[in-house]
Amino acid sequence: MSTTIEKNKDLNILIIGAGPAGLSLARLLQQEKGCKNVIVAERDVDRSIRIGGSSLDLHDDSGLKFIKRANLFEDFKKICRPEGESITIADKNGNVILRKPHLKINSKKPEIDRGDLRNLLIDSLLPDTILWDHHFTSLEELSDGTIIVTFKNGTTIKADLVIGADGANSKIRPYVNEVTLKYSGISLIEFEIENPKQVCPKVYDLVDNGLFYALSDEKGFIVQLKGDGNLIVYLSCKRDENWIKESGFDFKKKDFKEIKEFIKNNVLSDWSEIYTNLLNNAVEPFIPRTLYSIPFDPMIEWKSKSNITLIGDSAHTIVPYAGRGINEGMADSCDLIDCLFEVDNDEKEFNLHKRLNKYESLMHKRILEAGNDSNDAKEIVHNKNACNLLVDRFLGSYKYLKSLIPFYTYFINSITDSFGYSK
Ligand SMILES: Cc1cc2nc3c(=O)[nH]c(=O)nc-3n(C[C@H](O)[C@H](O)[C@H](O)COP(=O)(O)OP(=O)(O)OC[C@H]3O[C@@H](n4cnc5c(N)ncnc54)[C@H](O)[C@@H]3O)c2cc1C
Repeated sequence: MSTTIEKNKDLNILIIGAGPAGLSLARLLQQEKGCKNVIVAERDVDRSIRIGGSSLDLHDDSGLKFIKRANLFEDFKKICRPEGESITIADKNGNVILRKPHLKINSKKPEIDRGDLRNLLIDSLLPDTILWDHHFTSLEELSDGTIIVTFKNGTTIKADLVIGADGANSKIRPYVNEVTLKYSGISLIEFEIENPKQVCPKVYDLVDNGLFYALSDEKGFIVQLKGDGNLIVYLSCKRDENWIKESGFDFKKKDFKEIKEFIKNNVLSDWSEIYTNLLNNAVEPFIPRTLYSIPFDPMIEWKSKSNITLIGDSAHTIVPYAGRGINEGMADSCDLIDCLFEVDNDEKEFNLHKRLNKYESLMHKRILEAGNDSNDAKEIVHNKNACNLLVDRFLGSYKYLKSLIPFYTYFINSITDSFGYSK
């Protein structure tokens, strides 16, 4: 069977996309399996491109499991923020429904900023693994199973195995299946706040180093503290797919004051001033995000037909309400590696395609649970009774104690945290 393992090590593996999923896979291939012919082709011109967006928590059964398996835990510990696990839920009038502090004794989901995570993964790869400024445009499959991949800059690369890790709007996906994205019914407006302690002290206090939800009227704010001290704010609302397009504003470029007034009048007309104050202190630009996902009903069950497969958002774009996307991308890397390098005594000759299909089955099973969990969380956040339903979600198995003990006592929160029953 050593021949199988050797054969895998010799494969020319081309990963398209240096996001968390693609970089995680490259790390395991090189560090755990000793593969020397691994290339990650990325459209960004270099690593200095600013990675914005939310802070992330890595989960112990997926993202954190990968970090430990990839021997990156010691470096991760130096830059993660376990205190980012606190959760507060309030309504549109600022009434606090739940405060769930972080307990240092049991950190299950430490937070890390996206840019820090990307740098950690990039630095973990062998020199010259990443080909920057390589924007995938097309590929051609040859009769012997090899694949010729072409990039916008005119270069081509020949590979035995191509892995699409190029995100939600994947250009590799059409070569693998006919799956298309569907609008989730939710549009987000993202912005940041500098010096939050000074400019919005109430919300800063509610964020409590972690995550704050302000929910009412089937919409709400999700606010997080980032490693650089800024708050990142998502205003999440049920709206038509074209709401942002038809607003008449170019959210990214101009009309900053007018956009603030538009949001106040159209979304937050009777919300407490602690929330309109968030908008008043937003720093440019507003980033609109129309959320799309791959429908999970009926269950997706595609199988690759050749030596091309998908990991991360290109395989399974899910809505971000349960914080599972990056975590599942890292779990994909682990599953794919296991399937590629598994010792199979029944396999007479190395069968790459069969191994890819095995990975895809494992991934689909896992992602169905993650996708449903994410959809449930999305529905809760946009429900008329959102605050109470979200409290139930976070209290997990202890939610029945709600009627006996006021939620906001730290006692119940401590119990759920200590025993790991909360989400
Ligand atoms: C608002 C929001 C909040 C989120 N919060 C969380 C969270 O808290 N926790 C969590 O786990 N997940 C979260 N997610 C989901 C998470 O961002 C994604 O699941 C994750 O980024 C997917 O990783 P990926 O590597 O598959 O793809 P991506 O992160 O999209 O990376 C794809 C890479 O491929 C490159 N690329 C794209 N096209 C090409 C091409 N043609 N050629 C070459 N390179 C290309 C891109 O430049 C990029 O570097 C959130 C998502 C959103 C929208």
